[in-house]
Amino acid sequence: MPSQAESAVANHHVAAVDRLATGFALRRFEHELEAEYRDFSYRSYRQTRRVAICLLLASFLAFFAFDLLLLYSVGANPITLPVMLVRLCALLIIVFAAYRVLKSPDVATGYRWIPIGLGCLSLGMLLVTLIYHQGLEQMQLPYGLEGMMLIQIVIFVPIGYSYRNSLYLGIATLLCTGLALQLTTSGESPIQYLTSLAYLTLATIAAATAGYCQEHSMRVLFLTKRDLRTMADTDGLTQLYNRRSFDLLLQRALQEALREQTRIALIMLDLDHFKAYNDYYGHPAGDLALQRIAGVLASHPRRDLDFAARLGGEEFALVLRNPDSAYLVSTCESIRRKICDELAIEHLKNPAQVMTASLGASFSNASDTTASLYQRADLALYRAKANGRNRVEID
Ligand code: GH3
Ligand code: MG
Ligand code: MG
Repeated sequence: MPSQAESAVANHHVAAVDRLATGFALRRFEHELEAEYRDFSYRSYRQTRRVAICLLLASFLAFFAFDLLLLYSVGANPITLPVMLVRLCALLIIVFAAYRVLKSPDVATGYRWIPIGLGCLSLGMLLVTLIYHQGLEQMQLPYGLEGMMLIQIVIFVPIGYSYRNSLYLGIATLLCTGLALQLTTSGESPIQYLTSLAYLTLATIAAATAGYCQEHSMRVLFLTKRDLRTMADTDGLTQLYNRRSFDLLLQRALQEALREQTRIALIMLDLDHFKAYNDYYGHPAGDLALQRIAGVLASHPRRDLDFAARLGGEEFALVLRNPDSAYLVSTCESIRRKICDELAIEHLKNPAQVMTASLGASFSNASDTTASLYQRADLALYRAKANGRNRVEID
């Protein structure tokens, strides 16, 4: 039977698998994760989005020019002006939306202007189709829903925008097209009307299915990457940052402190007589004790950007940004007391009869490297051990 500690670790992985199973395109992750996903997906499609928008604008202009030639080649007729006016209005809005999306790479701008651009594209094409439809008999122009089919495909092209919103737009376009044609088609050609509508429906379903698969893969990729990053950055047993992250974060914190002419404090914590605890209570009990100690560090009131890490074995670290001496001492003392008085894990092989920890801390100075700061904090910890354990030494 797995120990409590092993179950806790296993549960962490089950949660990720669960999210994979429920992360379908039409379902959303919980609020924060969904926002993170949007950001990830929007950033991932940056290049594709640029290309897609440029191609869309180029084809829109090409169609515009082609229709202008076609309409004028058949001589003056009553639909030329309204068609071109609708196109021009749509073009102006689409160009502006494209400009906003290309200029500001943030997801909020995209989520505002992409639907405006797509909606305008769809509505413009529907109006043009209807005007053509009305003018069909007088002009004997070819008429069909090919334009609307193209729009349905464009709506579902994956460019990092919400699939769910694309689906709403695709369905709305299909329904509006059906309704508008129903209202404007005379009773004489129901077969042609129904056939066109059936093709449009099929095109919508095909584009929506392709979009769905793409969105689903993107969500799976997002979760997998996120889980891999979490696994690479955190310690599997305690969920604190691991040694690798600690080294990177300490380096960054020290550089920032030097730049801002402030200082950081590094606190090292080592459990007392932990080997004896393991030997006496067993390794699984040792793991559980480590998780509970990590809980104290993780839940300890911290300022923004302060962080805790497990350096390995029964050694932990806490980095505080810009603390004064009183704050550093009170933080160290409070952690030490919480471990021995509040957690009070029985430890009969420790003279204190409960689990205790020794802490050593040091402030950074202007000439410090991470190695020199680490060395001073480690020496302070060594002194705390040498002076009797279950105590705090500040360098
Ligand atoms: P001191 O008071 O001087 O710090 O003595 P100590 O026994 O705590 O230190 P020592 O370095 O001799 O022993 C550390 C022990 O931590 C050895 C090992 O059994 C245990 N340990 C290291 N990693 C883990 C772990 O992941 N799980 C468990 N249960 N024990 C671990
Ligand atoms: Mg120890
Ligand atoms: Mg140790």
